[in-house]
Amino acid sequence: MTETFDSLNPANGDVVGTYPVHGADEVDAAVDRAHEAATWWSGLTFAERKEVLTTWKGVMTRRIAQLSHLVHEETGKPHGDAQLEIVLMLDHLSWAAGHARKVLGRRSVSPGMLMANQAATVEYKPLGVIGVIGPWNYPVFTPMGSIAYALAAGNAVVFKPSEYTPGVGTWLADTFAEVVPDHPVLQVVTGGGETGAALARARVGKVAFTGSTATGKKVMAAAAERLTPVIVEAGGKDALIVDEDADLVAAADAAVWGGMANAGQTCAGVERVYVHEKVYDDFVSEVLEQAGRVRAGSDSQAQIGPITMPSQVGVIASHVDDALARGGRALLGGRDAVGERFVQPTVLVDVPEDSLAVTDETFGPTLTIAKVADMDEAVARANASRYALGSTVFSSARGAEIAARLRTGMTAVNSVISFAAIPSLPFGGVGDSGFGRIHGPDGLKEFTFAKATARQRVKPPMLLTSFSRTAKEDGQLTQLATLLHGGSKTLPKAPRKGLRRSR
Ligand code: NAD
Repeated sequence: MTETFDSLNPANGDVVGTYPVHGADEVDAAVDRAHEAATWWSGLTFAERKEVLTTWKGVMTRRIAQLSHLVHEETGKPHGDAQLEIVLMLDHLSWAAGHARKVLGRRSVSPGMLMANQAATVEYKPLGVIGVIGPWNYPVFTPMGSIAYALAAGNAVVFKPSEYTPGVGTWLADTFAEVVPDHPVLQVVTGGGETGAALARARVGKVAFTGSTATGKKVMAAAAERLTPVIVEAGGKDALIVDEDADLVAAADAAVWGGMANAGQTCAGVERVYVHEKVYDDFVSEVLEQAGRVRAGSDSQAQIGPITMPSQVGVIASHVDDALARGGRALLGGRDAVGERFVQPTVLVDVPEDSLAVTDETFGPTLTIAKVADMDEAVARANASRYALGSTVFSSARGAEIAARLRTGMTAVNSVISFAAIPSLPFGGVGDSGFGRIHGPDGLKEFTFAKATARQRVKPPMLLTSFSRTAKEDGQLTQLATLLHGGSKTLPKAPRKGLRRSR
């Protein structure tokens, strides 16, 4: 008999659904079927794939209430938040389907002077089958950031959703199968870490993993057995910086929503805030007022839901405990705010920079707020994390300048997490936040390999790639090289000290 597991409603523990635990044999079989489907799918034109993906988009859009409810049941997040992630996903799907030809299709490039007799083209070919391993916090938006782009690029996909949201993953594959009943272009395998590990070891062209940094390392190790490339979209400890001239009400709104929406369970959510000392007190009061109106609960009036993964409650508690034990103060919430299933908004100040609440991903509705002397200090502290996913700046005059100095994959200026909703922008991290990019042109290319073709148009004046090349031609080549690359006689002046800043 097939082993099964239950998907539970985190607000009350009710069983939402029961799903099979797929083992390595079943995962391998799904990947084999996917290879056949990939042959068919990659043989379609970009326009044909766009038509299929657009039809699927229509089916999902018309059933948005059904999918929102399922997301609500499996994650506990409010219906409105569930709908928001679905709408953003639809926009990404639309962009990926609509831009795949322009980004990936064959185009001519200059062959250069030496090879002027050649016609040079480059195109981006699908990798075949992509294994997608997803998290539970945004069970539609996050995995679809890989799935939509991988499909648009001409790949088949085998998707292993989180064991906390198998129903959402199954729903996505089922609706796709309604549009394409004869070819398993998008399949789902369900189960826990073992199922994910089997997918990472399977005969796939790439693994797109989204989840914790620790699991990302395991996925890389498993994929290395076949030299399978991976994308790792891992955790974050994103900072929000408030300059002295910032709109404080808007900055506080961004900090509270960015830190507490989805009960803080957002990879690119705000976890740390650094505020210019001149506006620190006013900013903190504004945050307290706004955060004081946010409540976690399962009723329709609650702005945030439960902590989806029960073990995370202990992590949040340990971060709050550590902060308080080391001199931090809770101006809102605190240890009592951490319940069995729900965590109420918590604002911590005077927390040492080396405490867990500042160094590690908390993934709860908590914020640490620290005072800084100037924006140099804010940037230095923000950049001091081993994570580097997203960041936020609030400043009237210097937003772009401060943003450019933040070493993170994405930065929002005077808004929060907006980059994730712009389909043409790449999304991904640096350092412990992972590598590789989803979304945008980079996100399409991520699921392809570059194919270069050089086609000889006319015979060359000198045949360089032949044993028939003569000593005379070697001499002519030297003359040509001097002409092309010999350059000016004067050397550029060396910078006086250090390296010049690249602009
Ligand atoms: P997780 O690492 O526990 O699990 C992620 C997925 O990996 C799940 O499907 C899980 O079953 C699977 N898995 C577990 N062990 C595995 C193994 N050994 N081999 C292969 N797969 C395995 O993460 P989670 O708790 O589901 O998600 C939360 C984390 O995801 C947070 O750290 C969050 O920041 C991160 N996240 C990142 C992004 C991003 O885009 N950067 C987006 C959303 C979430």
